[in-house]
Amino acid sequence: MPLVSMRQLLDEAAKGGYGVGAFNVNDMEQIQAIMAAARETKSPVIVQASRGARAFAEDLYLFKLIQAAAELNPDIPIAMHQDHGNSFETCKSAIELGYTSVMMDGSLKADGKTPSTFEENVEVTRKVVDFAHERGVTVEGEIGVLGGVEDGHGAGGSGLDHITDPDQAVEFAERTGVDALAIAIGTSHGAYKFTKKPDGSVLKMDVLIAIHKRLPNTHLVMHGSSSVPKDLQDVVNKYGGKLKETWGVPVEEIQLGIRNGVRKINVDTDNRLAITGAIRKVFWETPEKFDPRDYLKPAREAMQKVVALRMTQFGQAGHAGDYAPISIAEIAKGYADGSLTTQPLVAAK
Ligand SMILES: [Zn+2]
Repeated sequence: MPLVSMRQLLDEAAKGGYGVGAFNVNDMEQIQAIMAAARETKSPVIVQASRGARAFAEDLYLFKLIQAAAELNPDIPIAMHQDHGNSFETCKSAIELGYTSVMMDGSLKADGKTPSTFEENVEVTRKVVDFAHERGVTVEGEIGVLGGVEDGHGAGGSGLDHITDPDQAVEFAERTGVDALAIAIGTSHGAYKFTKKPDGSVLKMDVLIAIHKRLPNTHLVMHGSSSVPKDLQDVVNKYGGKLKETWGVPVEEIQLGIRNGVRKINVDTDNRLAITGAIRKVFWETPEKFDPRDYLKPAREAMQKVVALRMTQFGQAGHAGDYAPISIAEIAKGYADGSLTTQPLVAAK
């Protein structure tokens, strides 16, 4: 089927009470792994590309691969999303290519490193929302700043430096009209999220729940939400890797989030670990091999396994056939006539 609006995908997830994984891609094998997992589990899916991915793969290669995925999988709703757009121009270029969703990460300035002011964030996000909604494209905004750096994007530092303030989240949602809201609750990008199994002192699920109470109908997004399971770390290290011990976001915390308004969960590191472990194993055990297919095939299978597991854990499995896709033109009409609301329901404190 044609690429679908992420707004539709998330609205349906809210109706069904489940979350949808958003998996990052840079190449054909990762896209194939995600689609194989989506077919296996009958899941709607969000595929996302960072600015780094778009530069690595070249825009047109990557976008044509996604179109091929849509064409080859007529029964799977796929939203194509720009991850961490740093400016209006980045989001505009993704929309003009045909992405059905963009993230405007106005929590940082356009350098992708320096935290911005609240007013700057509102202004640039609002501008992207106006441009995107006219074209039927979904917008995710971010309030608060995540920790860590990935693909050259991020403020660095701890995830605890800029936790989202629930009152600001309400004002941000009201003033920007975003379809989905990424919040900072202590998570970080990359593999090194926590130095021990996270508890309430570093992973602020209470903040997430407080935001959901104020914005009960707003689709919340969890970034930096790989679980970084020990078995994936162990495979990498068993075959010559040198990962330091680290902890991600436990799946049961993500599931608690899903019960409290989280509809989109970003996962990248787990897939990177699965791929790297599978390739290292082939290199280690059969150093005589040199055909890229000998290690890319197991790498693709290892990623498929992780993605399928997450799809089941997030609850999106089995929901691919629940709804017919609404065309992007119809979605644009919905924004224009107000049938697709962009004003959040706000509950009293
Ligand atoms: Zn992110």
